[in-house]
Amino acid sequence: GATLGVMGGGQLGRMFVHAAQQMGYFTAVLDPDTASPAGLVAHYHIQSDYVDEQGLAQLMQRSAAITTEFENVPAAALVTLEAHRPVAPGAQAVAICQDRALEKAHFGRCGVPCAPHAVIETAEQLAAVDAALLPGILKTARLGYDGKGQVTVKTPEDLAAAWTQLGRVPCVLEQRLDLAFEVSVIVARNAQGEVVHFPVQRNLHRDGILAVTTVPAPEVGPELQAQAVGAAESLAASMHYVGVLCVEFFVLRDGRLVANEMAPRPHNSGHYTLDACDVSQFELQVRAMTGLPLVSPRLHSPAVMLNLLGDLWFDDAGRTREPAWAEVLALPGVHLHLYGKLNARAGRKMGHLTVTGSTPAQVQDVAQRCAELLGLAAW
Ligand code: ATP
Ligand code: MG
Ligand code: MG
Repeated sequence: GATLGVMGGGQLGRMFVHAAQQMGYFTAVLDPDTASPAGLVAHYHIQSDYVDEQGLAQLMQRSAAITTEFENVPAAALVTLEAHRPVAPGAQAVAICQDRALEKAHFGRCGVPCAPHAVIETAEQLAAVDAALLPGILKTARLGYDGKGQVTVKTPEDLAAAWTQLGRVPCVLEQRLDLAFEVSVIVARNAQGEVVHFPVQRNLHRDGILAVTTVPAPEVGPELQAQAVGAAESLAASMHYVGVLCVEFFVLRDGRLVANEMAPRPHNSGHYTLDACDVSQFELQVRAMTGLPLVSPRLHSPAVMLNLLGDLWFDDAGRTREPAWAEVLALPGVHLHLYGKLNARAGRKMGHLTVTGSTPAQVQDVAQRCAELLGLAAW
């Protein structure tokens, strides 16, 4: 029993810990919150701030190899760890993925198309922005997630106001693109450069938060599939990436595939792999970081994944309630995952459910029925 360490104890850390333990590893989780979802199921919970030297030292002592569940780890902390232990993904890759400006530059280096954009770090750069980028979306270069740290802007005046609203931190202005739909692809790469991938999944976002993932999606043909996988593999290879990497893409109305952003970790859009594939994204993270063989995952069932946000825990009058689990669990092929979070809040990811079944149509039917029972919007 070697111990695998993970920086961050949210739901991604929790599902990583489940996979590691299933394969016989002990687990150490570094998170400031003792009631963190992963901390609750880890063998060793290290309560400390992520940047805390002592926390890092303890994680290093405990762990044979270390991974992260979120991209906002200070790259310097990963550099320190890397000097002593295998760290997957490594500091260089995380540094690129945690900063939209570096990330877009990396897309450019790899010849992967992304939205027309400008980096805004100074008032001069703000004033010099090409009006052709408007209407656009101003995004903080760092620390945004679930659509936070983003403002839609139509005019140069909006843009100036938005930059002030975001605290005049380094930002990227992106042209607002005409999306047909969104997809993502998850690849896993090991230190030898071997790479495997999951099928491309279609993602529906609501209010900037992932709501529904569908796989296979009828709109994703073989050509789109090959393009997305090829792009993700080349992005991973050129970062010397080790571990699971997700790349989000836009598919434009004219059919072009455009990269949106990368996540240097297992991803919400890959949660269906737990129930619908013969190896999950979390198991591949364990395999990649420990040098165990990677295998090509096989999707053995069509799947629809629904995110369960904290909103479901409140009725129309704002009183707390427990969602109708017994009713959805009475339907065939429903796999409920709750993350052990104690406080529900609107927009907070509390869990997800995946529907598997024999045909895409049947899975869609059951998933829509689940949405209805839970009070989620249809799609
Ligand atoms: P995540 O939680 O996935 O990390 P995030 O906060 O980093 O999200 P983005 O992925 O940049 O945010 O954007 C969130 C959503 O907003 C996208 O999935 C897409 O629906 C929409 N969006 C973002 N950028 C654009 C764009 N340039 N044109 C059109 N829609 C966009
Ligand atoms: Mg993001
Ligand atoms: Mg995103």
